[in-house]
Amino acid sequence: MRHLIFFSTLIFILACSKQPEGNIITVNGTITPHELGRTLTHEHILVDFSGAENYHPESYNQQEAFDRILPELQKLKAYGVQSFIECTPQFVGRDVILLKKLADATGLNILTNTGFYGAQNNKFIPKHVFDMPAEAIAAFYIAEFEQGIEGSGVRPGFIKTAVDRKPLSDFHAKLVRAAAIAHKATGLTIMSHTGPALPAFQQLEILTAEGVAPEAFIWTHASDEKDWTKLVTIARMGAWISLDKYGWDENYLKGEVLIYLKKQGVLDKVLISHDAGWYDPNQPDKAIQPYTPIFETLIPSLQANDFTTADIDQLLIHNPAKAFTVTKRLITSSN
Ligand SMILES: [Zn+2]
Repeated sequence: MRHLIFFSTLIFILACSKQPEGNIITVNGTITPHELGRTLTHEHILVDFSGAENYHPESYNQQEAFDRILPELQKLKAYGVQSFIECTPQFVGRDVILLKKLADATGLNILTNTGFYGAQNNKFIPKHVFDMPAEAIAAFYIAEFEQGIEGSGVRPGFIKTAVDRKPLSDFHAKLVRAAAIAHKATGLTIMSHTGPALPAFQQLEILTAEGVAPEAFIWTHASDEKDWTKLVTIARMGAWISLDKYGWDENYLKGEVLIYLKKQGVLDKVLISHDAGWYDPNQPDKAIQPYTPIFETLIPSLQANDFTTADIDQLLIHNPAKAFTVTKRLITSSN
């Protein structure tokens, strides 16, 4: 009898651990939100700027990429980082086998994505995608979620899409609608490379029309919006504000935006990261931008401005866990 209880408990645990709903999907399977820990929410391991028409992933040296990136990831251990969200979409350098090897070598939880990247004038979109209806694009994302990516068995932990830094084109509006449809089917969070507030508001309108709540949306590169009141407005709508350029601007590392957002009481909607790193197969000798300025410079500066340990944990632990938990966030009739 005792054995029976033991085995049925074990089977129950195994069954639960496979369930994406309420959990987080890494390249090595599902973990609980609690297991995510300190997280960098927007970084890159390999980026290939060739564009969809000239994209030849088989031609780069995966071992060289691994060897160049590994020491940069290992530096994160000293800062207690447990999880790393890799935001490079397909046709821009997504290589889930490389990510898996790096996750195994470092013990980091690494997340990858499904989705098409429309920014930079659709350079990274294969021709056949332009005429696909939103439903067919969504079906492709859903298939990667259900069956894994390119036969690897690795599943996406979120949807990544991208629009240009101007009013949405019809095609970019379609990409956003596809992401909304896929969210309703999978519960995957939508991370959208956006920049200024205008296309962020437009995307939230599309999500609302599709019945998807702002909580499912990460306004990526919100750091590019200079009118900080817009960050507060969108945070109060419920969307995630991604300040992800901490690898790029010395001045930014003083933390002024975060100090402002804390005063406005919206720190619980903010994600921070560097948007750094990457091995570029077209420039293999280019230096890898470090994944550490947040820990070396930003956090000490925030602490000097009365940020508590709880505030830092909010940004690096609790918000990422909530933002990347797989769950359908729909607009219900009561709200
Ligand atoms: Zn990025």
